[in-house]
Amino acid sequence: MFFFFTCGTHTFTSRLKGYEHVTTQCQNCGNFTANCYKRWEWFTFCFIPIIPFSLKPYHEVGCHVCNFFQDMKYRPDVQAQGGGGQQIPMQGYGGQQGSQPQYK
Ligand SMILES: [Zn+2]
Repeated sequence: MFFFFTCGTHTFTSRLKGYEHVTTQCQNCGNFTANCYKRWEWFTFCFIPIIPFSLKPYHEVGCHVCNFFQDMKYRPDVQAQGGGGQQIPMQGYGGQQGSQPQYK
């Protein structure tokens, strides 16, 4: 018998509940093509998800044009559009204090 032990990662991606209808502007390319996604990365062993990389799924705003993903906590404007009932105060938005990590 010969076994292959394959380790890897698997990312579960789905549309974020309550935000299915939300299409917003991508802060990277400027197109109104960004949608809200729930992403959850898991460590897999033999293609079976074993350990999640984080305790909770990431809530992200993703753009399919430039493939840019941004954590939703940086997009209070998007959160305000969702049906989650979470009202985040627009603190500091529009000020662009330059402290947002922009990964490309
Ligand atoms: Zn984009």
